[in-house]
Amino acid sequence: MLSKANYRLFFSILIFVLSSSFIWGQNELKIIDKTVNFGMRPAENRTIDAVIVHSVYNASAGDKYDVDLIIKEFAQYGVSSHYIIGRDGTIYRLVDEKNISYQAGKSSLPDGRTNVNSCSIGIELITTNDSLDAPTEWQINSLTALVKDIQKRYKINYILRHSDIAPGRKTDPWNMDWEGFLKRIEDKKVE
Ligand SMILES: [Zn+2]
Repeated sequence: MLSKANYRLFFSILIFVLSSSFIWGQNELKIIDKTVNFGMRPAENRTIDAVIVHSVYNASAGDKYDVDLIIKEFAQYGVSSHYIIGRDGTIYRLVDEKNISYQAGKSSLPDGRTNVNSCSIGIELITTNDSLDAPTEWQINSLTALVKDIQKRYKINYILRHSDIAPGRKTDPWNMDWEGFLKRIEDKKVE
């Protein structure tokens, strides 16, 4: 039997190990490659200054959160996204950032530019538009880390929702605490 003091010590060590692995896990951005050759166009030296956040789910038969079924739907529609973030926070890369992904559609940035695909990086969160559904905390953690990482590599002027650039046509990302997310982006500490 462990004495009370030993028990407490054991617990503090356990908590320390668990919390540090959590922090380390957040520091390194793990990305799974699922490169596609549709819904995109190769580009050289494009200027990236916007990040567009979307949400998506598989509306066909099968698991609505399944990333491969969503990619299959993208193929049917000839669209894509640079990244998709799964319910568990896993980040999948579909299109290299240097290339153009067809994710924004007919839309415009606050400064009036309309060819949004050409200057933006698109990120999809897997979630449905059901009012009881919402992005998971894991997804928001990964999204925050990914956007902060993108900001290190490009001078980003706009972080916007799809609904911000295509109002009336698009309503995603659904059920997301957008203000809370932006606060986390402004927070300078490493995610
Ligand atoms: Zn969208």
